[in-house]
Amino acid sequence: MLKLVVCLKQVPMVTELPWDEKTGTLRRDLAAGMMNPACKHALEAALQIKEKYSADITVITMGPPAAQEVLYEALALGADKAMLICDRLLAGSDTYATSWILGEAITKQCPKFDLLLCGAYTSDSETAQVGPQLAEKLDLPAAAYIEKLEIYGKTLRIRRLVDNFRETLEMEFPALVTVSMENYLPRYTQLVGLENAFGENQVVVLDIKSLGIDSAEIGNHGSRTKVRKVFLRETQKENIFFTGTPSLAVTDFLNKYQRKISAAIGKSIEEIKQVHEEK
Ligand SMILES: Cc1cc2nc3c(=O)[nH]c(=O)nc-3n(C[C@H](O)[C@H](O)[C@H](O)COP(=O)(O)OP(=O)(O)OC[C@H]3O[C@@H](n4cnc5c(N)ncnc54)[C@H](O)[C@@H]3O)c2cc1C
Repeated sequence: MLKLVVCLKQVPMVTELPWDEKTGTLRRDLAAGMMNPACKHALEAALQIKEKYSADITVITMGPPAAQEVLYEALALGADKAMLICDRLLAGSDTYATSWILGEAITKQCPKFDLLLCGAYTSDSETAQVGPQLAEKLDLPAAAYIEKLEIYGKTLRIRRLVDNFRETLEMEFPALVTVSMENYLPRYTQLVGLENAFGENQVVVLDIKSLGIDSAEIGNHGSRTKVRKVFLRETQKENIFFTGTPSLAVTDFLNKYQRKISAAIGKSIEEIKQVHEEK
């Protein structure tokens, strides 16, 4: 039987993102939580593997006590085991520290896993760093933003969309993938699932002591990133008119926005101008 681990993050509801101007951090305690949307797709991918190939699914989250809501939701949807990593000393952990802690917990609690699934990114911080950093920490082959996966024995075949190209990759287990939101449409919870989720001792809660984690690697100490300033960006809209012949208007447009166009379409300014001149 395959052993799958899915990392789930609880994020604030998108409509409620209060933040503290002084510290530059999100006041997650003031917002209602939900399972991060991309994590739902990662969980759905794991559930479909379980249905097709037979698997045991452990879900894991690091967060405050309230984060266990996403674990119960996952259990109700079909996950088998759930683990909450919860400790006040974890506060202030950046993505590096978060990945480090998740990696330690997975190594110690689920050492024989075959596949680790993460969401591609979160709706509150959206760095997309935790999955790849976790793969580095656990020394695993990894692929990010996957759309589809199939399993052939110990080989994982993955399809993903990169720079408008569809790539098919193969990796051996154990491996890590981050799942995009293109496929694996999350399912709804069924009543029987809810009954199963709320059995006794369904969620194991672990603090850093019980995980034997070195406190130098977590929280503010363990974080390599320091937030210097957070501010709301002021945006202004303006209408710009290009006049003259179409060719002149295009030339003026290219001259004015060449750097932005170049960055958006991945071509050098010379290439863009050459195409325009040829036409
Ligand atoms: C200096 C600094 C201080 C911070 N302090 C705090 C703080 O005090 N409190 C706080 O809540 N946040 C804090 N953060 C934010 C916190 O580091 C990120 O929320 C966290 O590392 C996840 O990053 P992300 O949301 O960008 O995840 P991404 O990399 O975008 O997430 C990708 C996937 O990784 C997995 N994943 C990510 N986070 C978790 C998790 N916690 N548990 C399980 N799986 C996960 C999920 O599968 C997710 O879909 C801080 C960040 C910085 C830079």
